[in-house]
Amino acid sequence: MVMATTAQSPEILAHDPLTHVPPSPGLQGFIGADDYEALVKCVHCGLCLNECPTYRANGLEPDSPRGRLYLIRAVAEGTLALTDELEHHLDQCLVCRACETACPSNVQFGQVMEAARHAILEDHAPAPRRALTSLVFRQLFPFPKRLEAVGRLLRWYQRSPLPALVQRAAAFGLLPKRLAVMERMAPTLNDQFFKSPPSEVVPATSSRRFRVGMVSGCIMPLAFAPTNDATVRVLAANGCDVVIPHAQRCCGALAAHAGDESAAASMARANIDAFEAFGIDEFDAIVINSAGCGAQIKGFDHLLRHDPAYAARARRFVSKVEDVAEFLARVGLTAPLGPVARTVTYQDACHLVHGQGVRSQPRELLGQIPGLTFVEMRDSTRCCGSAGIYNILQPDTSAKVLEAKLENVCTTGAECVVASNPGCLLQINMGLRERGVAMDGKHLVDILDEAIAAGRRE
Ligand code: SF4
Ligand code: SF4
Repeated sequence: MVMATTAQSPEILAHDPLTHVPPSPGLQGFIGADDYEALVKCVHCGLCLNECPTYRANGLEPDSPRGRLYLIRAVAEGTLALTDELEHHLDQCLVCRACETACPSNVQFGQVMEAARHAILEDHAPAPRRALTSLVFRQLFPFPKRLEAVGRLLRWYQRSPLPALVQRAAAFGLLPKRLAVMERMAPTLNDQFFKSPPSEVVPATSSRRFRVGMVSGCIMPLAFAPTNDATVRVLAANGCDVVIPHAQRCCGALAAHAGDESAAASMARANIDAFEAFGIDEFDAIVINSAGCGAQIKGFDHLLRHDPAYAARARRFVSKVEDVAEFLARVGLTAPLGPVARTVTYQDACHLVHGQGVRSQPRELLGQIPGLTFVEMRDSTRCCGSAGIYNILQPDTSAKVLEAKLENVCTTGAECVVASNPGCLLQINMGLRERGVAMDGKHLVDILDEAIAAGRRE
């Protein structure tokens, strides 16, 4: 449904950047000069508005891409103060980047929004929020062993009677609603976490064609271990030696979305070091099965552009990075595929379709599986409301966005929703569960793995 009218916040939109002569960009120290340059490309045409899930959900100009750019520009130019109300409108953004795909002026909205969030975190966020962000993104996510310890604790909790008690207590108003949402959203942790083998290299299981690095992720090894295992099997079955460096870390995507650019940059450096230890030029590709991480990793060159020790190395590293679907579609599947008798639809993860421009490849791969019926979903490129930890931080808007997605998912009549991002799978599976719909969400490589296993049995 297209929004015909906009309810505008007068004090926020009183400033008109079209008639305003800007002072030196970045003068206020809010965003840097190159982020400001990206921002002023906006010509206010409004073509992005109806692609924006939060504008469609709330109908407010300040909750649209154009409105947010307007606000960020006004703060950068010093004509608008950074208030809690303004920050609220920026926090409502999913950073889904659908507006980038729609924008004729090529405004890099994700880059601008992350710069604004970084500035807010540094200069405006209350001390407890800064301390929590620092604890999570500087003391937990960069350390796989600490994450694993938290994972073990969470796994124990999930297998105990406590989750049912938490849900009941929240239903009676004894615990905050947000805690109950967090509890329901938390991924069910696997009995076995994904581990790279001691040698860090898994040899090809068919005629060797390529050497690829694999980014194993931070949450994927804990919550999607079977999908990581399937990714290794699918790559190896298609003639790849798969290198999974032990020293790799979280890619920093969640830190960047939360505005902690320094934590994200330090994780980017650690990952470049980890893969460089195996010789970047030795890799035919560095593949990743999580769309959100892939979009972040493809942006390492921008993130480290001012770092003299890493800028060129980041560019070389990024030139090798491909989503697993992008890589497999480019090199072609050589493993024989057997039948998968299932009707599936496909959800385009925002950070794959809008962040990386990967749209046709997953469909091409699914189209090669015998017996599989593919049904296109209406608005498949629209966000599901997951967006990292957005569904926990903004549960009300996230629920509205998810509801629209579930309508489209259910209308397909498919048995399975395929996606290439853990966040989308968690969010859609939670929504389907709560609606009592007998459909499940699966990662693309899980379906390919199933087809390869069926091919072996034939
Ligand atoms: S990134 Fe997504 S939610 Fe944010 S303004 Fe753009 S379209 Fe809207
Ligand atoms: S489509 Fe691009 S130029 Fe037009 S209003 Fe949106 S961000 Fe600005």
